Amino acid sequence: MSDEPINVRKGRRLFLGAAAALPASSVLAAKPTSPNGKSGKLKFDADVIVIGAGFAGVTAARELGVEGHKVILLEASTRLGGRTYSGRFAGLDVEFGGAWVHWLQPHIWAEVHRYDHGVEEEQIANIDRALVMLSNGQVEQLTLEKLEHYDKEAMEKFCAGSREMFPRPYQPMFNPKVQELQNISAADHIAKLGVNDIQRALLNAQMTLYGGGSTKEFSYASFVKLYACTGWDYRNFNDADRRYRIGKGGTLGLLKSMVKHSNAEVRFSSAVKQVRQERDHVVVTTEDGSKVTARAVVVTVPTNTYKRIQFIPELAPAKRKYINQGEMSDGAKVFVQLEKNHGNTFALCDDPNPLTVVQTLVNNDTIGTVLSLTPGRRKLIDINDADELEKQIRRLIPEAKVVGVSGYDWPNDPYAQQAWGAYRVGQMSLAQEMAIPEGRVVVAGASTAGGMHEHIDGAVESGLRAGRQVRELFARSPT
Ligand SMILES: Cc1cc2nc3c(=O)[nH]c(=O)nc-3n(C[C@H](O)[C@H](O)[C@H](O)COP(=O)(O)OP(=O)(O)OC[C@H]3O[C@@H](n4cnc5c(N)ncnc54)[C@H](O)[C@@H]3O)c2cc1C
Repeated sequence: MSDEPINVRKGRRLFLGAAAALPASSVLAAKPTSPNGKSGKLKFDADVIVIGAGFAGVTAARELGVEGHKVILLEASTRLGGRTYSGRFAGLDVEFGGAWVHWLQPHIWAEVHRYDHGVEEEQIANIDRALVMLSNGQVEQLTLEKLEHYDKEAMEKFCAGSREMFPRPYQPMFNPKVQELQNISAADHIAKLGVNDIQRALLNAQMTLYGGGSTKEFSYASFVKLYACTGWDYRNFNDADRRYRIGKGGTLGLLKSMVKHSNAEVRFSSAVKQVRQERDHVVVTTEDGSKVTARAVVVTVPTNTYKRIQFIPELAPAKRKYINQGEMSDGAKVFVQLEKNHGNTFALCDDPNPLTVVQTLVNNDTIGTVLSLTPGRRKLIDINDADELEKQIRRLIPEAKVVGVSGYDWPNDPYAQQAWGAYRVGQMSLAQEMAIPEGRVVVAGASTAGGMHEHIDGAVESGLRAGRQVRELFARSPT
């Protein structure tokens, strides 16, 4: 499929401007560096090859590039960002992938601060219609205070004991009990909580969202860890997760700042198909047969795409097990413009109602209403079908008339094959095994992070760690 956002209007495809606003060629490609000061005359094409130009890859490239190492960044698609994707819809700057960040997410916050991007605030604090859809489709309208009361009580029950469970949230396996707790599903945990129907619907919707799939498969402990990372606190967790976007060009703007600083050479349309380790170097082969050599490689591709790459020698059994299981993460994001101003709505929809989370981005008499929809289970709805989207939205806003839609189908992108990283039961410890280097092969990517593995913060954390691991490798085996 194309790596541009789909744009549809009822019954037919329509390009509303998101794709036009972000042509692939508009993405900044840093100029190639000359052989660097660290290793003098290069024996190989580069000191380090980084595979994947999402936040993890760009962070690793920047870490090593600023130290004078020659870095080549190989990216399969034609743009920076990976599972973040800044674009335009209905005259607004929007993020088709990862968007929301917070100062309680220390790694991404340091980047936002370092390059002086600041944040822009969503209007979620001023909701005037709070809705909960139960699993049978019945819609309950609550005051914002009531929604927060129910949700806080339910979430605090779900995450009870989070501080003891994750005393050091960025070292998830620090507490040996997590080895067992990671095997409990969100569904089994919710069943024991003694919550009312609305609270059950709220929890189910949120676990379907974070799991990107069925709550029966989603590891309850993996969610509690995310909660622990934001200070074991309900309010902090919510603020961190849907309130502040990166300013000055959004995620793409920040990535451009980081790439510029890195001095890395970025090669787009360079999908890697093989990584081979030799005694003192690696050989990376792209799908067009080109070969690039370096002293080390950092692999940052999404977990579900690893099967496209052959590793010689093969990766360790724990890594292969994790890759073969794959992550859940069947989510998507869709923006919808409604003809009229319907106020500021926030809705959570229990499975199997397909919209999962509905959040108003903007509403006024000029633009009408722009909604951000985040279906946790994309298989339940065709995000290209504006008629179906309108039908689902009308269950929440009966007068809604859809005039424009634009979204991105992440699980169908061959170089993503998933949305945010979500652990199945039992996967949390396996994901930590991914972070162990194998000779000259270092693995990064949000899912390999200790902390916010579903987030941009996790991608940056893993990129920083990968930079350190390459540095340690070079110190052990100087050229
Ligand atoms: C819809 C959606 C909403 C989200 N919302 C939020 C949010 O609000 N806040 C938040 O913090 N996080 C959010 N996330 C999660 C966040 O976007 C990701 O965790 C993060 O961007 C992952 O970064 P990464 O660098 O690890 O991986 P990626 O961004 O996926 O980067 C990997 C790169 O590798 C490339 N690649 C793949 N295969 C190959 C290959 N064979 N050869 C070369 N290149 C290859 C890909 O094209 C990609 O560019 C969201 C994600 C999605 C999809």
